[in-house]
Order: sequence, then C-alpha cells, then structure tokens
Amino acid sequence: MERWDAVIVGAGPSGLACGLALVKKGYKTLIVEKETAVGLACKPCAEAITRRFQAHPLFEALPGEGQVSRVAWVQALNGRLLEKTLPLPASSVRTFSKRAWLQALLRDFLEKGGELYEGCTLKGVDRQTSVAYLDNAPQAVRFRYLVGADGFTSRVRRSLGMPFFKGLVWQADVQGEFRTLLLIGAFDEIPFGYAYLFPQNAHAKVGFGFVPLVGRVFWPDVKALQRKLSLAFGASTPPVFRSSAINLCYRGFAFENIFLAGEAAGLALDLTGEGIGPAVISGEAAALAIAGARAEAEDSVKWLVSLKRAQRGLLALQVPLVGLGRRLLRPFGLTAAFLLSRAKDEGLFWRILVG
Ligand SMILES: Cc1cc2nc3c(=O)[nH]c(=O)nc-3n(C[C@H](O)[C@H](O)[C@H](O)COP(=O)(O)OP(=O)(O)OC[C@H]3O[C@@H](n4cnc5c(N)ncnc54)[C@H](O)[C@@H]3O)c2cc1C
Repeated sequence: MERWDAVIVGAGPSGLACGLALVKKGYKTLIVEKETAVGLACKPCAEAITRRFQAHPLFEALPGEGQVSRVAWVQALNGRLLEKTLPLPASSVRTFSKRAWLQALLRDFLEKGGELYEGCTLKGVDRQTSVAYLDNAPQAVRFRYLVGADGFTSRVRRSLGMPFFKGLVWQADVQGEFRTLLLIGAFDEIPFGYAYLFPQNAHAKVGFGFVPLVGRVFWPDVKALQRKLSLAFGASTPPVFRSSAINLCYRGFAFENIFLAGEAAGLALDLTGEGIGPAVISGEAAALAIAGARAEAEDSVKWLVSLKRAQRGLLALQVPLVGLGRRLLRPFGLTAAFLLSRAKDEGLFWRILVG
C-alpha cells in the first residue's frame, strides 16, 4: 500500500491551498477528489471575496473577474424600491470565476509534484493504522497526515465523530450585463441573514442566506424573498433558485495526525456564509501545522474563529433589538419602522464589507 506524507480529501479551495503549501515544502502529497473534473462540479457559490481576504496572495489574480462599478443598497417597501449608492469602493467585493481559479491552483499543484486521484471518493478512515479507504483503485492509501478538506458533508469530520450545524443559501444565475453590486435589505423575511446580487462576466449571482438558529420560528418566507429579489434586479420572469448548505460548526482543526480545513472544519463565516477566504487560510494552516509551525497555524485559525464570533454576535443581537425597536416605534407608523430597518441593514452591510 502506498504511503504518503499527506493525503488531502477534497480539491476545493481548502484542499488545493493546503496541497500547494505542502508541495512547496517538499512533502509527498496526494489529493483525493470525488469529482472527475476538478472545479467543474464545484458547489453553488456566489464566487465573491470581500476586502478582509483580498490581500492573500492566492487572490491576487482572479480569473474571469466581474466588472463592478458601484456598490448599492436596495430596500423594498410596500412594492417600491429604494436604492442608495454606498460610499464603498467597487472593489469591496471582487467577483470571479471560481472554476477557472480552482483549475489554476490545481495546475500549479500538479506542476510542483503533487498527485491527484480524480473520481475517487473517501469511504472511511482507520485512525489506528492511518489508512484511508477509497471507492476506486488503489482502494486504500496510508498517510502520515490526513487533511479533511471535503466540505459541508465531510467524511473525515464524521470519522472524528463531530456534529454539523448548517446555514442555508438559495441562489440563482441571472443572464445579462450587471455592473452594480447590490446588497439587498430583505431582512424582514430573514431575521438572521443577508441577500445579494453579485455581478459576474455576462451574468450575476443573486441569492439569500440565513442560519436557522431557532428551528422553524425564524424560517423565512422563501417565496416572498424570491419575489423581492426578482423585483430588485428587474427580472420579468423569476429565475430558478436552488438551495445549498454551509457547515458553520467549528469544533477545532487539529486532532493528532488529522486536520480539518474550510467547511469540513466549520470555518465559513456565520452571518455572510463567506467561506472561500477561510478555506484558503485554514488549508494553509493545516499545512503549517504539518510542517511543525503549530503556533503560527493556531494563530491564523484563531483569527478566523474571532471573525466567526463577531458575526455570530451580530446575528444573536439582530432579532431581539429589531423586535423591540419595532414595538416601541409602532405608534409612529411605518416610516419609523422603515428607518429602523434601514439603519440596521446599512450598519450590517458596513460591518459585512469592511468590518
Ligand atoms: C450558494 C452559496 C453561495 C456562496 N457564496 C460564497 C461567496 O460568494 N464567497 C465565499 O467566500 N463563499 C461562498 N460560499 C461558501 C463557499 O462556497 C465554501 O465555504 C467554500 O467553497 C468551502 O471550501 P472547501 O474547500 O472547504 O469545501 P468545498 O468547496 O465544498 O470543496 C470540497 C471538495 O471535496 C470534495 N469531496 C467531498 N466529499 C468527498 C469525499 N468523500 N471524497 C473525495 N472528495 C470529496 C468535493 O467534491 C469538493 O470538490 C457560498 C456557499 C453557497 C452554498
């Protein structure tokens, strides 16, 4: 049975960032990916990076970058749309082709001596013997270190007996030339969440996400949100929205010779569901820990966890504050309630983009 310094499960952002860092350090590294064309079947994603992650070297060149000229905030009130340009640089959120970006990372990984088994699913892990079992030839591989970079249904995470806690995102692709990045105040329907229109090349990703914190009590009116979003970007026929999950449950990233990265570690941000930046940083942190720089690795993961905590705090505050504010303002009518929700949305977006 072949023995590898590191076996990484998953060729998404976290797996490829980890693999690249390891091959650069001379480790004999294998990535196992269940899809046959890496990046082609990557999960639904709005393909956007906010400012706090943009300085990372892997985000310097973003293939297929969308042309955003302004950032605006939109709120629907009684069927009317109010739009306001926000004083934020257009680069606050950069959009790109995730597929092309992943393929470029993969090329780099392979050129530097890494190996990829495509169409190969991890079926199980024997922690005693450090063997990973696969559904295809060679059926099993031995590892010194194993990295679970296998996303929101991670089998590596399951092998560690850890729970999952998932946020949900509904997203649609809309054809056309878009230049304005819209942050959409749809928060009456989503007490815990966000909505967006992100311009890409010749199309846009439009969607909304939320964390079902307290079961069905805060389950949004999905149909109403889809109508509101269609209205916000002027679609005559409503686009088809599809839902997907994001694992938000962080319980640690290092477990003896096994590491978790990206969504397998639950490191996506709680309020915005942003996960590409955290995936890259935690993938590299796993590589640092494998190379012996454990303290440095822990520092970068701590930073991600602090971002998650800040966003979770905002989530936890939103509902009671807004509920109370509405009740107090009710005697002053719709306008006061509207001003309150407007202040909340703008403050929230500010925090999401530059906080
Ligand atoms: C609708 C939606 C919109 C989003 N928009 C954004 C956004 O705009 N910006 C942002 O930063 N984040 C966004 N996210 C989150 C982001 O897409 C993820 O957090 C990020 O892709 C996580 O990267 P990852 O490498 O951890 O996992 P993934 O990208 O999920 O990669 C995991 C890889 O592992 C493979 N795999 C899984 N199981 C196995 C197995 N058993 N064996 C072998 N291979 C396996 C999968 O095929 C996949 O290639 C969005 C998410 C959703 C759902």
